[in-house]
Amino acid sequence: MAEGVYQVAIDGPAASGKSTTARLVAGDLGIQYLDTGAMYRALTLDVLRHGHAPTDPTAVLERLSRLELDWREDRVWLGEEDPGEAIRSNEVSVRMGPICAMPAVREWMVDLQRRLGQRQSTVLDGRDIGTVVFPQARFKFFLVADLAERARRRQRELEARGQQHTLQALMDELERRDLSDASRSTGPLRQAEDAILVDTTTLGLEEQAALIIKQVRLVLTREAFCD
Ligand code: C5P
Repeated sequence: MAEGVYQVAIDGPAASGKSTTARLVAGDLGIQYLDTGAMYRALTLDVLRHGHAPTDPTAVLERLSRLELDWREDRVWLGEEDPGEAIRSNEVSVRMGPICAMPAVREWMVDLQRRLGQRQSTVLDGRDIGTVVFPQARFKFFLVADLAERARRRQRELEARGQQHTLQALMDELERRDLSDASRSTGPLRQAEDAILVDTTTLGLEEQAALIIKQVRLVLTREAFCD
């Protein structure tokens, strides 16, 4: 890894505010942002578009072998296509669990994420960044929030896209996704022992980003002084 390059790992359950926080942190620090969930989402979208079941490992691996996944201009690409909001549809969210649990998929994604994240300093958000992708990351944070608060956030996000969902349905979906993320044997959702726990239940996005930025800047300034 190039000298001076560092990673900021931001892990946590769905709708804990990771991706917006990670974007704000990367913007403030002037470094790359990598949304690893978007990569798993893009593969799921590709599998569904080709009419395959996410539970069919042969079909998923066949699509993976043809996947031209890339990260440019702060977003995920499928070849020359920017899939945009299609990767965030409810169908993708609800059906991606089995794909994310396939060891060969995770190995492929982790390899790509490492290559992208070690070229330059990067903030990565996901589930297994601090434990698997970059266990040596200089900075690790684990974001959590109450289930009801996470469901309210998701509801506001979907409403902004014109989709109506009841709070109960969203709580059920988040709980199911947390369980599936935490119980898979490869790359499960887990707080790294050396990660700083941030409970975002009562924090705004700017506040939680500020907390992380302050911590990172403190360490970087201290290191610059000691050099
Ligand atoms: O972060 P986001 O909610 O977009 O992630 C979507 C899904 O992708 C998660 O529920 C999880 O199953 C999967 N994921 C993963 N490993 C990561 C990032 C996301 O398995 N590093």
